[in-house]
Amino acid sequence: MLTCREVAEFLAAYLDGELPDEQRATFEEHLDLCPPCVHYLEEYRHTIDLGKKACKEERRPEVPESLIRAILASRSNDGRKS
Ligand SMILES: [Zn+2]
Repeated sequence: MLTCREVAEFLAAYLDGELPDEQRATFEEHLDLCPPCVHYLEEYRHTIDLGKKACKEERRPEVPESLIRAILASRSNDGRKS
């Protein structure tokens, strides 16, 4: 039997379909008994969907590539400051 904490740890792998059958069965068994984890799973899935949509919207053709490169370059420079 999984704990709620383990369910949270395996969540990403579960949604990606990367869990082995046996683990997935245990995972789903926990979800049957634990509504808060089902809710957490749905929230997590929803967040991923939103992230994917945001990504698509960022790739608008009217943004010049030179501008994107300049932004990315300034971001990575900031990251190197210590
Ligand atoms: Zn749980």
